[in-house]
Amino acid sequence: MQRIHLLSPRLANQIAAGEVVERPASVVKELLENSLDAGASQLDIDVEQGGVRRIKIRDNGTGIVKEDLSLALSRHATSKIITLDDLEAVRTLGFRGEALASISSVSRMHLTSQAENEVEAWRVEAEGKDMATAIRPASHPQGTTIDVRDLFFNTPARRKFLRTEKTEFAHLEEVVKRLALSRYETGFRLSHNGKQVYDLRPVTDQLHAEHRLATLLGKKFIENSLTLDVEAAGLRLWGWIGLPTFSRSQADLQYFFVNGRVVKDKLVAHAVRQAYRDVLYNGRHPTFVLYLELDPSTVDVNVHPTKHEVRFRDGRLVHDFLFSRIHKAIADVRPESDGAPTGMQDV
Ligand code: ADP
Ligand code: MG
Repeated sequence: MQRIHLLSPRLANQIAAGEVVERPASVVKELLENSLDAGASQLDIDVEQGGVRRIKIRDNGTGIVKEDLSLALSRHATSKIITLDDLEAVRTLGFRGEALASISSVSRMHLTSQAENEVEAWRVEAEGKDMATAIRPASHPQGTTIDVRDLFFNTPARRKFLRTEKTEFAHLEEVVKRLALSRYETGFRLSHNGKQVYDLRPVTDQLHAEHRLATLLGKKFIENSLTLDVEAAGLRLWGWIGLPTFSRSQADLQYFFVNGRVVKDKLVAHAVRQAYRDVLYNGRHPTFVLYLELDPSTVDVNVHPTKHEVRFRDGRLVHDFLFSRIHKAIADVRPESDGAPTGMQDV
């Protein structure tokens, strides 16, 4: 008979990593979210071989103090929530304290950081080992650089699921795109195999926001969309919605953010689909980049480890608000006489 024993921290982390770290794109998502939570205004992302060989992310956020460095790599270690009440109204992108522990258990990770108001920078290295790692002095301006090499080097079963460099990079770029669309005031620079993919400057006004949208989603989207900004019952919805004439054969130009967090939610998808129902042919998909802002205590983001789903306290209210406002915005631009779907145009 096998006796019961506790899993080693490393194995526990590797198992947890199965939920959080699926591929290079998930590493980038977690690291960028941490940088944004740390208040960074500039993010530099350098990746090699679709991120499989290397992902290096540098930010100019608050940094991590030396005393917290090894703790940052431990499971269930977070600076973002303390009590259950905090979880009820979480404003940060992260809060599970799982990402760094997971990533460091399945890669060769170096973390270098200089905390604000400190004069020295420090580095920890974790090479898929248990958490005890040496802390060494390093050179770094205020902020943090996390260098992740050889993802899944010690978990061959997971490595087998990685796709081609091109596919992995496409996923990774999509993650950067979503975050860049969620934080206009932050600069994003992305390079792949030493070649710059884009350098998005921080923006504060609508014109430059549209410039960023055009860079990320194509000029045609901006040329063929309406802007929206409406408020009611404590809900605010703003952003861009594609004209019915600018539909797609796939649902691939649809971005929805709830309180700055990218969300893929059935209720939201349904509301938007309904709003476009009368003006799109079957099988065509609307295009949109929309931002919903509401009291954080009325939405639960702790539904899934990747935090893509949310649960609204009053789902009906949110659904009706989205449906009615989008429906109205579209109706306002449609020529009165014609009730049939208009012509189609693809990007
Ligand atoms: P979570 O984000 O859920 O708190 P993580 O494992 O992603 O958990 O990170 C653990 C902790 O490490 C964070 O709570 C934060 O205090 C710190 N941290 C991680 N990345 C950064 C960063 N780029 N800048 C500053 N602090 C960071
Ligand atoms: Mg995190």
